[in-house]
Amino acid sequence: MGFALSYKTGCSTCNQSSGNMLDFKCTQCSSPLDFKVDFSFDQSKIRSQDYSLWRYANFFPYVNENDIVTLGEGWTPLVKFTDNLFFKLESLNPTGSFKDRGSTTLISALHEQVKKQRGYIAEDSSGNAGASIAAYSARAELKAKIYVPENVSGPKINQIKSYGMPVVKVAGSRSQVAQKAQQPEKGKFYVGHIYHPLFRDGIRTLAYEIAEQLNWKTPERVYLPVSAGTLLLGVISGFKHLANSGIIKAMPKIVACQTKQVSPLYHRIKRLNYRPPTKITSKADALVSTNPPLLDLMIREIQEIHGDVEIADENEILNAFTELAHKGFFVEPSSAVAYAAHQKQLKNKKISKTVKTVIALTGHGLKTTLAPASNRERGLDLRLPRAFS
Ligand SMILES: [Zn+2]
Repeated sequence: MGFALSYKTGCSTCNQSSGNMLDFKCTQCSSPLDFKVDFSFDQSKIRSQDYSLWRYANFFPYVNENDIVTLGEGWTPLVKFTDNLFFKLESLNPTGSFKDRGSTTLISALHEQVKKQRGYIAEDSSGNAGASIAAYSARAELKAKIYVPENVSGPKINQIKSYGMPVVKVAGSRSQVAQKAQQPEKGKFYVGHIYHPLFRDGIRTLAYEIAEQLNWKTPERVYLPVSAGTLLLGVISGFKHLANSGIIKAMPKIVACQTKQVSPLYHRIKRLNYRPPTKITSKADALVSTNPPLLDLMIREIQEIHGDVEIADENEILNAFTELAHKGFFVEPSSAVAYAAHQKQLKNKKISKTVKTVIALTGHGLKTTLAPASNRERGLDLRLPRAFS
C-alpha cells in the first residue's frame, strides 16, 4: 500500500517522526510536519514520455503507482515574456491553479486508506485549494467537506460545488475557518492543505519543471505570491533537492511576494512590526493568511537560502493585473502580486532587465470577480501602434 512505502515525515521543530500518513501535525509539539527528502534527484529516473508532473513519480516514494489520482496536472508551459523574463503558467492546471500539484500527491497518497476506514476528508481553503481538493476527491471517488471563509468569491464556490462536494461557510478569520475544519467529527480526516506535509511536498515538482524546462540552468530569480506558504516552501524544497543532488549549480533567489495588507512574512524578515487590518479588502483575495501556521518555517527557509521578500500595494496590484491581461495573460489579482513585486523591484532599480527571472502565474483570471476598470480611469495609453492607425 502507498503508506507502507518509504514514508518518513518528521516534525519541523522537534525530532519526533511520524509514520501515520493521516497525521497533519507533530503529535509531540503540534509544529508542522515535513516530508524528508533523503534521496538524490537523478535525471535518468524522469519518465520523459509522461507530460504531467508524474514524470517525476520516482521522487515521490510514498505514492504507489496504482494509486495515482491524476487529472493531467503539471508540466505547465514556461512562456518567454521578454528576453529574460519567463512566466510559468500554473493557471493552466486542471482546476485553474498551482494547488493541483499538492492535491494530486496528497489524494494519491491517502485516498485508499481513508476509503478503507469509510471516512471522508476535510479541508479548509480560501477557494483555490478547496476547488482543487474537491476535484481530486471527485476523481478518487472520495468525499471531501470543504470549509471556506464566508466571503469567498462566486466562481470559486461554484467550482467547488460543481465537483459535488459539500461546502461549509465559516464566519470570522481564516484561522477560525481552520479551527472549524479541524473539529473532530465521526469519520472525518482533516487533511488541510496548509498543514498536511504531502500537499506541500507535491509542489516540489514546480521547481523541477522550471529547471528542466530551462535545460537545467536555473533562473537567477523566482517570484512567487505568498499567503499560507505552501507554494513558497514547496518550491524551495524542490530547488534545494536539485542543488543538494548536484543537478543545479546554485539556488535561484526566491522572492516571496505579499500584499501590503497581508504581509506577515515580509514584516518579520524585515524586522518590522506588523499589524493586520481588521478587515482585508485587498483585490488579491486569495492571499488572506495574516497569521499563517507555517510562518516560522517560512522565515527559517527564506533566511537559510538567502531569499528575498517584497510587497505590493493595491494600485500596484491592479496595474499588474491589467498589464498582464493587456498582454494576453488573464490571471487572478492574487497571482498578479508576484508580477507587481517584480515591476516594483525593476522600478526601484533593485534588479535589472538582464536578470533571468521566472514568475509563477498561479491562478486563472476566470476565477476572479474583479471587473476591468475603465481604461481612462487607469490612465492607460491605448493609442494604436502606428502600423494600425
Ligand atoms: Zn514536534
